[in-house]
Amino acid sequence: MEKVAAEQRVHELHELLNQYNYEYHVLDKPSVPDAEYDRLMRELLQLEDEFPELKTEDSPSVRVGGQVLDSFQKVEHQIPMLSLGNAFNEQDLRDFDRRARQAVGESLSYVCELKIDGLAVSLRYEQGRFVQGSTRGDGTIGEDITVNLKTIRSIPLRLNKEIDIEVRGEAFMPRNSFEKLNAVRLQNEEEPFANPRNAAAGSLRQLDPKIAASRNLDIFLYSIADTRNLGVDSHSDGLDMLDKVGFKTNPERRKCTTIEEVLDYIKEWTEKRPSLKYDIDGIVIKVDSFDQQDELGFTAKSPRWAIAYKFPAEEVVTKLIDIELSVGRTGVITPTAILEPVRVAGTTVQRASLHNEDLIREKDIRIGDSVVVKKAGDIIPEVVNVLVENRTGEEIEFLMPTHCPECESELVRLDGEVALRCMNPKCPAQIREGLIHFVSRNAMNIDGLGEKVISQLFDEQLISDVADIYTLTKEQLIKLERMGEKSADNLLSAIEVSKANSLEKLLFGLGIRHVGAKAAKTLAQHFEIMEKLQVATREELTAINEIGEKMADAIVTYFELPEVHDLLNELREYGINMEYKGPKLVSVEGSDSYFAGKTIVLTGKLEQMSRNEAKAEIEALGGKVTGSVSKSTDLLIAGEAAGSKLTKAEQLQIEIWDEDRLVQELRK
Ligand SMILES: [Zn+2]
Repeated sequence: MEKVAAEQRVHELHELLNQYNYEYHVLDKPSVPDAEYDRLMRELLQLEDEFPELKTEDSPSVRVGGQVLDSFQKVEHQIPMLSLGNAFNEQDLRDFDRRARQAVGESLSYVCELKIDGLAVSLRYEQGRFVQGSTRGDGTIGEDITVNLKTIRSIPLRLNKEIDIEVRGEAFMPRNSFEKLNAVRLQNEEEPFANPRNAAAGSLRQLDPKIAASRNLDIFLYSIADTRNLGVDSHSDGLDMLDKVGFKTNPERRKCTTIEEVLDYIKEWTEKRPSLKYDIDGIVIKVDSFDQQDELGFTAKSPRWAIAYKFPAEEVVTKLIDIELSVGRTGVITPTAILEPVRVAGTTVQRASLHNEDLIREKDIRIGDSVVVKKAGDIIPEVVNVLVENRTGEEIEFLMPTHCPECESELVRLDGEVALRCMNPKCPAQIREGLIHFVSRNAMNIDGLGEKVISQLFDEQLISDVADIYTLTKEQLIKLERMGEKSADNLLSAIEVSKANSLEKLLFGLGIRHVGAKAAKTLAQHFEIMEKLQVATREELTAINEIGEKMADAIVTYFELPEVHDLLNELREYGINMEYKGPKLVSVEGSDSYFAGKTIVLTGKLEQMSRNEAKAEIEALGGKVTGSVSKSTDLLIAGEAAGSKLTKAEQLQIEIWDEDRLVQELRK
């Protein structure tokens, strides 16, 4: 095909695929069979293959997955993603209503919406094109997951109006997708996801967008970040507008004028909840009028014009059959309740951590008791209380052992700790847990090497420390239970790939006391190579902001151990990378840039670069970019139409630059 004809056809395919996609995934009214969609998609992929220059950022082909990432970039939300206050019962809701009416008067209406149990995300459109999507993160800083969000087919890549808009919504996994996914995972001997929310979050955090694309996620948009200039003056108008420009909103919303109507809506959905195709965990109630919202304002944490009613956690009664003890990586002994299997909030529960001896005493939990079980945060099973009235006298009081259940060493209770510990460094349980930790996601992230495989390898004495993982052979692996030739090959290549990991993964994996994933990153960034960290002194370590004395001591003690020295040499020999590969720290003292060590705020619209680009450049020169102006701000960069931040900077007499001045300084 000629290029001109190809271009024409690609354009047609975009239109068709976008239209079919919208009909199917947003309107739920497909006009063509799936096979037709697939055929057109294949044709588009083929043309893009032949003419790569015709592949655009918003081509429908991104739905099947774009480029694999190394990591997610951070995104600062220009308008924070707030969380809502919670209501747990009717009284909380009546109080909310009373406060709102006292503040803005009796004429007030609410919009009630289902609270989707998924992952909050923000989507940014420029000129009607989807340009960036991010997670909520801590509300101020999230992660850029644009490539994964593009695979959600109910997210429009182009709107039918060329507007700039940022919208917030909930990405989720429908129940049937969740069940299919878990069935496949079980077949592949992978750990099933606990619930659709975890599955959705896990899917969107994949670095390979093809995985996200395969997970059949969906989304409902529920708010507009900044409604100025959009010609809407209420929340309900805003949602209607979202519908009109091509977004998918939840159709079950309802406008209510009294709190009684709100309570009816809640009652209705509490009953209808199981019939939905997706999980909800409550009802969101918002004051409809934007003027009234403004009048009500915010508390430090959340808006006063909205509240989230949370459904009560489901509680069930079952029998506690036994209490098992396990030895963790650091030697802590944890008692776990073994329960008669029972369904709670969508999954079967048969174990619940009892955390420590004190908790068992406090709740007076005995073996044989009838207990009330719920899932905390709808995820982690927990024993709520004992039904003492059901006791028969046969129940057995539980006593913590005095010796390690695995290695028989005497257990100790360290000062200030509630936990009992096995202090034997050769304790097999601790070694096994340490191995499991080493291969886990935030550490060396070796796919296919889960808890079961590690336990088998350990029991067969094929591995006794982490270095042994790198000596495993195919012959050894295929002798394991349920390990086929293909999985053995996959596992070996995953082990091979892990050798190239950046230093922080190895550091975290080693399981040095008090060194979590974040501290490992900080250490790797500062020392860059293992050799330097190995000889770091206590003073050098505590000089780093995030490293406290306790951690510094633990690090020095760890690297002084001769076994550790030998282990690292062995790992080096096997070719494990010991260098930091992430973004370099800029030494503030060493940098002669104007920005080094300064705190800078960007506001208004920049013409020559995006705010994110400006931020990245400033940070690369050692500056710190923050979101709000305060006394500690050194410099404000004010673009077009800068607003309240500019006023505040003027009041505080902070230095103010325009964009040209910024560019000039950056280009120096
Ligand atoms: Zn032990």
